[in-house]
Amino acid sequence: MNEKVRCLIIGSGPAGYTAAIYASRANLAPILYEGIQPGGQLTTTTEVENFPGYPEGITGPELMEDLKKQATRFGADIRNGIATSVDFNCYPKKVTIDGEKVIEADTVIISTGASAKYLGLPDEAKYAGMGVSACATCDGFFYRKKVVAVVGGGDTACEEAIYLAGLASKVFLIVRKSFLRASKVMQDRVMANEKIEVLFECNAVGLFGENGVEGVHVVRHMGEANEEKFDIAVDGFFLAIGHTPNTEIFKGQLNLDSVGYIITEPGRPTTCVEGVFAAGDVADSIYRQAITAAGTGCQAAIEAERYLSEKGL
Ligand code: NDP
Repeated sequence: MNEKVRCLIIGSGPAGYTAAIYASRANLAPILYEGIQPGGQLTTTTEVENFPGYPEGITGPELMEDLKKQATRFGADIRNGIATSVDFNCYPKKVTIDGEKVIEADTVIISTGASAKYLGLPDEAKYAGMGVSACATCDGFFYRKKVVAVVGGGDTACEEAIYLAGLASKVFLIVRKSFLRASKVMQDRVMANEKIEVLFECNAVGLFGENGVEGVHVVRHMGEANEEKFDIAVDGFFLAIGHTPNTEIFKGQLNLDSVGYIITEPGRPTTCVEGVFAAGDVADSIYRQAITAAGTGCQAAIEAERYLSEKGL
């Protein structure tokens, strides 16, 4: 028999856990499925220095563990499992977990976040787990005193390059433009770090190596008259070029923008389907911060509670 809940939360980043804290304190007895990456993207981050309330900073995994404990304290039912399909064209909404178990929910809060992007090079797949990574915090340890490359010019790339510079002997930062897109403070930290060499106007076009990554084929000024090809010898290749929202299962069920982010009412977590709310990075291509995700998780839980009481559910 299908399980019936008043509030189902899909995803376990700051948005999902905050929604679970608010929903459980409002007596909605929420069930939260943690998804592929329990704790979300912050579990792959080192220091979080900008989450209010932690004057000395906190690690991403610790912050997520604290949020989870806080939600559990108020009775949220937090489970392992991945939502594999949804049907929002019926009442109650139906969400299938791990391809078999169906949960019927009066309200659904989607907080499935976003995933790291890859360049799409065949070599990324060829060397998966053999020197290619999209998470410096997870894999940096393997590159102590080695040479690594990071691709990207945003805050994530700079953060990862700085983190890796603390472990590796040298870090190449491969940036396709002539400037870094990252915030000024991160740019300054990168430029001041003697272990980091920034390769501006460069693209990584392939990898080479016998039993794992041994180097990157790089093209400078790609497609221009002064195009220049060269190789750099590295032991690890890290991607930090942004994220894709995790909305595959919501295609055809909810309105998504051209990139795939869930479209919500401006300033609110309400989607085009009554009783379905979206919170965190899955619906936010602009801010993408832990604190904004937590804020929208709170909004989603409050909206779910209001919806249930208005409908007398
Ligand atoms: P961004 O979208 O900000 O940056 C992506 C970077 O990758 C850009 O430099 C982009 O280049 C480059 N890129 C994208 N696609 C390719 C490609 N195919 N080949 C080569 N380079 C590519 O993503 P981030 O993940 O860095 O940051 C996302 C958001 O999270 C931002 O708002 C950021 O400020 C925030 N953030 C904040 C942190 C903090 O405050 N501690 C830490 C990490 C992230 P181009 O510039 O040419 O487009």
